Amino acid sequence: MPSIDHDDFDLACEIVQDATNFAVEARRDLSPDAIVQKSDGSVVTAVDVALQVMILTRLEEVFGAIPVIAEEDLQSLAGKPAAQAHCRALLRDWGMDASEANITRALSSGGLDGSTAAVESAWVLDPIDGTQGFVDGDHWCPCLALLSRGEVVFACNGHPTVLGGMLLSAAKGAGAFWFPLAGGEFTVAEVSQAALAADAPVRLVAPARATESQIRARMSVGLATGHPCTLVHSDSQAKYAHVIAGLADVAYSRRGNGPGKYIWDHAGAILLARESGAWVGDTDGGDIDLSLGRRLSGSHAVICAARGLGPSIARVLAQRDLEEGVHAEGRGIARSTP
Ligand SMILES: [Mg+2]
Repeated sequence: MPSIDHDDFDLACEIVQDATNFAVEARRDLSPDAIVQKSDGSVVTAVDVALQVMILTRLEEVFGAIPVIAEEDLQSLAGKPAAQAHCRALLRDWGMDASEANITRALSSGGLDGSTAAVESAWVLDPIDGTQGFVDGDHWCPCLALLSRGEVVFACNGHPTVLGGMLLSAAKGAGAFWFPLAGGEFTVAEVSQAALAADAPVRLVAPARATESQIRARMSVGLATGHPCTLVHSDSQAKYAHVIAGLADVAYSRRGNGPGKYIWDHAGAILLARESGAWVGDTDGGDIDLSLGRRLSGSHAVICAARGLGPSIARVLAQRDLEEGVHAEGRGIARSTP
C-alpha cells in the first residue's frame, strides 16, 4: 500500500476546494429528478454521487490506491436513470471521466468496514454532509478525513455557508486553518478559551429542522450550564464549524440507543476542532474511538465545545443518557441494528 506524504495534504485540500466550488455551482441548477430518496429514507442527489466519484478519482491520481470509507455507493442512485444521467453530465462538466467503468470503480471503492486500527491509511469521505441542507439552501459541507491506524491525522472540510465560504483544514499537531473558497490568504482557526461571563448566553447548535421536543431538550442542556441559552441552527459537520468559527459555543451529536453515528459525519470535525483548541470528547470526557469502522459504535456522543464548557456539557449528557435508559453496556459493542 502506498504511504502518504504529508507534504501532499495541500493537494487533498485543493481537491476538496474544487469539489465544494463545483457543488455550489451544481446547486444552482438542481432539477427535481436529481434529488432522490435512498432505501433508508434519507435524501441524496446526483451531486453527492458525482462529487464522490470526482474526489475519489482525483485522490487516487495523487495518492494511489488507499482504502476508503465513503457514504455513497452503487446503490445511492440505483434505479433512478434521470439522476444517474445528471451525475454523468456533472462529471463531464467538471472534466472527469464519466464512463460507466470509472463511475462503477469509484463507487465500489468506498466500502471499507471493520476495525481500521491496523490499517496504515484510510480516507473517510462524505461528499456532501447535510444533503437536506444542500437541497433546502441551508448548511452543508463536503468532508474528507484521513485515518492512520484508526486515528484521524488530516481533515479538510468545505464550508460554503460559513464565514462567507471557507475551506477548513488541519493536520494533526499542526493547527487548523481557514482558506477562502474563492482563494486568498489563510487565517488560523482558533477557538476562544475565555470563560463566558455569568450572564452571557451559551450558544448551542440545534438541527435546522428541530422539533419542539428537540428544541426543549437543547435548551435544557444549555441552561444546565448555569447560563442563559440561545440556539444556533445547523446540521452536518457545519455545526462543529460554527463552534470553530466562534458562531456557537457548543455542538453535539448523541448516539442514544442507535448503532453509533457514521464516522464520516464526525471524523474530520474532531481533528479540526481539536487543532483549533476546542474541547472534543464523549459523555465520560474520554476520547472518541474512530478505529471501529463505519460507525462510532464505542461512543455515546461527540461533544465539541469552546470556552471550557465541554466537561459540564458532558456531565449533562451523561445524566440524560442515564435518565433515558441509554444502554451503558452498548459502549464498545457494535450493534447489529442499522
Ligand atoms: Mg452525505
